[in-house]
Amino acid sequence: MDANSSTTHPRRITRLLHVGTVPVGGGSPITVQSMTITKTADVEGTLQQIYALAAAGADIVRCTCNEIEAAEGLAQIVPRSPVPIVADIHHQYKMALAALDAGVACLRLNPGNIRRPEHIKLVAQECRDRNVPIRIGVNGGSLDPALYAKHGGRVTPEAMVESAQQELAYFAEVGFDDVKISVKASNVMLMIEAYRMLADVTDHPLHLGVTEAGPPPAGLIKSTAGIATLLAEGIGDTIRYSLTADPVEEVRAGRQLLEAMGLRERKSVDLIACPSCGRAEVDVIDVAQRAMAAFGERELPLQVAVMGCVVNGPGEAREADLGIAAGNKRGHLFVKGRNVAVVAESEMVEALVEWAEFIHEHGTDAAIARADTTIAEREARRDRDQLLASQGDDANHAQDRIVEIKRRYDS
Ligand code: SF4
Repeated sequence: MDANSSTTHPRRITRLLHVGTVPVGGGSPITVQSMTITKTADVEGTLQQIYALAAAGADIVRCTCNEIEAAEGLAQIVPRSPVPIVADIHHQYKMALAALDAGVACLRLNPGNIRRPEHIKLVAQECRDRNVPIRIGVNGGSLDPALYAKHGGRVTPEAMVESAQQELAYFAEVGFDDVKISVKASNVMLMIEAYRMLADVTDHPLHLGVTEAGPPPAGLIKSTAGIATLLAEGIGDTIRYSLTADPVEEVRAGRQLLEAMGLRERKSVDLIACPSCGRAEVDVIDVAQRAMAAFGERELPLQVAVMGCVVNGPGEAREADLGIAAGNKRGHLFVKGRNVAVVAESEMVEALVEWAEFIHEHGTDAAIARADTTIAEREARRDRDQLLASQGDDANHAQDRIVEIKRRYDS
């Protein structure tokens, strides 16, 4: 069935923007987002969560950037993340600038929190100069007090739309319009009405969500009621379930909803790959492409990770059913984060296909049981130590970005 014909209305035509490499709007596939709940300064913990979210089907992940340590964490996370990172900015415009220095693919600004026009315009100018989009994230719970008062001391759909339009007008003053918008509320009907109104007055892509929906099952039901209603009307370009739960649950719910509505294809192999960075030991893009070609149309509903280095690969992609990480001209195969075999670099793709077929037939436990994990782990450790000895601790030169973040923040 054609994706568009499965909804009541044709999809609303919006302009296209890119969050990193991921297209949003302009008729591109509706994307699923989620947000990490780790401290962003905890680089390894946050990356592990980002990989778990990507393995569950997240296209874009947001991380909080509420303090200088978080921005410094982002400088290290961004080059190692498999999906584009959006920085969530709270009250300090300087954190938006620091997140840009860290290299994020998008900012989320809440117009109710950063209200001084000169700050808003400064951030928009920087985004314009760097080609980084912004999500205007209006939130019913933190509406600009002036708009709240103007609309009779109530949060109304009109007030939320006006807030987004005000922000757009500030951006326009500095020639910036690379924008997607959300008008979330915890009240489902309020949120639906606000998005409908917004869809009538703008062609910017819309990010859908019911904010603070709470724990499942009520949170799932509220989110689905709001998001699905709008999607069925052809409104929405990217979605996020905001659950009080493991964020992986948010992603699963988002994917399931899109698949149920015929808006996203059900994939066979879900191949995730690290973006490659200063540590990469192999041409990750080439291996990932060859792996995709080798899996072809095979019906193997597994998550398979292609990782550039054995230093971080198996840990970062531990949620994947199967993965391979390069190191010292060898490929280290891992199943659910456990090293299971070592193969020559030239045999990486064939080995992935063979192990994927085995796992599909027998499961990941059987795959681990058939492996000599002691040898595989010893070999992985050897190659990891060798790489660390030759590359040092800061293969991505994140320290340079951190110095820039500190310089700007202190000025
Ligand atoms: S090369 Fe290694 S550290 Fe760099 S992104 Fe890939 S797995 Fe992560």
